[in-house]
Amino acid sequence: MAGFDAVFVGSGINSLAGAALLAKSGWRVCVLERADRLGGAIRTVDGLIAPGFTHEVFSSWHPLWTGSPAYAELKPDLDRLGVEYLNTELPTATAFPDGSSAFLSTSLEANTSELGEAWARQFDDFMGKADVAFGVLGTELWSTAGLALGRRAYRQFGRQGLVEFGGRVLGSARDWLTETFADERAHGLLAPWVLHTGLGPDQASSGFMNQVIACALQLGGMPVPKGGGIRLVEGLAAIVRDAGGELRTEAEVEQILVSGGRATAVRLDDGECLRARRAVLANVTPTQLYGRLLREGEVPERVNEAARRFRYGRGEMQIHVAMSELPRWRGGDERLAQVPVVHVTPGLDGVSRAVNEADRGLLPVEATIVCGQPVAVDPSRAPEGSWILWLQLQELPPRPRGDAAGELNTTAGIWTEELREAYADRILARLGDHVENLATATIGRAVLSPADLEAANPNWVGGDIYGGSCALDQNLLWRPTPATPGHETAVDGLFHIGASTHPGPGLGAGSGYLVAKRLTRPPLPRRVLSRLPGRRT
Ligand SMILES: Cc1cc2nc3c(=O)[nH]c(=O)nc-3n(C[C@H](O)[C@H](O)[C@H](O)COP(=O)(O)OP(=O)(O)OC[C@H]3O[C@@H](n4cnc5c(N)ncnc54)[C@H](O)[C@@H]3O)c2cc1C
Repeated sequence: MAGFDAVFVGSGINSLAGAALLAKSGWRVCVLERADRLGGAIRTVDGLIAPGFTHEVFSSWHPLWTGSPAYAELKPDLDRLGVEYLNTELPTATAFPDGSSAFLSTSLEANTSELGEAWARQFDDFMGKADVAFGVLGTELWSTAGLALGRRAYRQFGRQGLVEFGGRVLGSARDWLTETFADERAHGLLAPWVLHTGLGPDQASSGFMNQVIACALQLGGMPVPKGGGIRLVEGLAAIVRDAGGELRTEAEVEQILVSGGRATAVRLDDGECLRARRAVLANVTPTQLYGRLLREGEVPERVNEAARRFRYGRGEMQIHVAMSELPRWRGGDERLAQVPVVHVTPGLDGVSRAVNEADRGLLPVEATIVCGQPVAVDPSRAPEGSWILWLQLQELPPRPRGDAAGELNTTAGIWTEELREAYADRILARLGDHVENLATATIGRAVLSPADLEAANPNWVGGDIYGGSCALDQNLLWRPTPATPGHETAVDGLFHIGASTHPGPGLGAGSGYLVAKRLTRPPLPRRVLSRLPGRRT
């Protein structure tokens, strides 16, 4: 039986970053991926629609990765391997139905002049608490590090300040936006970003997430890897291989083998077993981990029960368009064609309504169109003078029960090919009101429905691209479940990572990083000694 120090189930960003970190610490690691390529939600395809066009089939924007501690640590290797990031000073905008638009840039002055003094006040206020706010998203909360973060927050804010901060973490985006900005354009500019955290603007904790993202966009812009996410995947895989590790595709894990309460190996669907001397890291949903990969009786029944109750969020649709020309945005503001992520929405109430319709099983009348323009940052993605649209619809029911517009036939109750294409037609017709040459310049399109996404990756149940609802009762301290918060499991040596676990979805590789650090942490006596005065760590 082949043997490794650590075996990763799945090759998403959390696995690749975690494997690279462990490999650099001298661990012999193996990454097993069921699909025919590495990367999970990072999939770059040349010629998906036409030759010369490079599409990000799933995820596209890397601010969470470039702002992550994993990237900080691996950057020298990735630089050496030629992984280059491109960025912009104009990360996002919203195009409103009347043809007007609002922009967010990486300049405090520009944002204050666009959104008023309220922007500068909220930015200052957030930055005063930023280390704790970002700390909540970058710390193993159920651990001594989590306690230390709590103590630091107490020292910094005092009792009253901590109560107020806690209250602000719980609030909705609607409350935060309407209290902070009198200008509805500011609401329309920022509210759609809540969707990218898996929430809606009326949900608890969406106000906190909205502030984190708003400030992070000004601080970090919208970086993308030159040539596509595949460059990052190749770079991380090279770090693993250079250190003697292995990465295998078309290798589906069907069972994690447990002996004496400890994870000792994994079995692939072709029967091959691979020994894991020190750890198995499973980048899967709780549904798969407890319902498939572990056998009955290996964890307490309350854990299985909590996994069965794990909820998935809304479905998503991805539309890729190749265009023979640059887009001509209505309203004449040329900056719109320089912005990587434009949201097309009536505003805060528009996002709220579409989320509510999707939550009720309906196709929204006026979904928020996330209109990604990767060529605005990386011209190498398309032939000169042409363009790519990366469109995302995040307010869809996993199983449609009706159409809020009363137009499309949903009687099948599932995402058929016919419904997928008809819904994409509706979205592209609406976008055509904003991008005047969309119909005439379109070379071709490719559409993925929630059902197609689920088929592509078992972590996206019902087309939920965030690996499980991010509602507060299933997030932060309670992710993935209240019975199994954090990354340790009831099985020794088995760690749960990936979007279903804290700090949740996104390309920040937070869970892979936290577990890699936990596994390579020096033993307690060495840590204590290193803190003694005069000792160097
Ligand atoms: C369409 C889409 C767009 C997105 N856009 C962005 C974006 O622009 N920016 C951003 O920050 N985030 C984005 N996200 C979210 C982000 O990409 C994901 O949250 C993140 O990449 C998930 O990484 P992960 O490590 O959890 O694993 P995943 O990417 O989910 O990968 C897990 C892998 O495990 C494999 N696997 C599962 N079970 C097994 C098994 N039993 N055996 C072997 N292999 C198995 C799967 O095939 C998969 O490849 C997007 C997600 C999607 C789907």
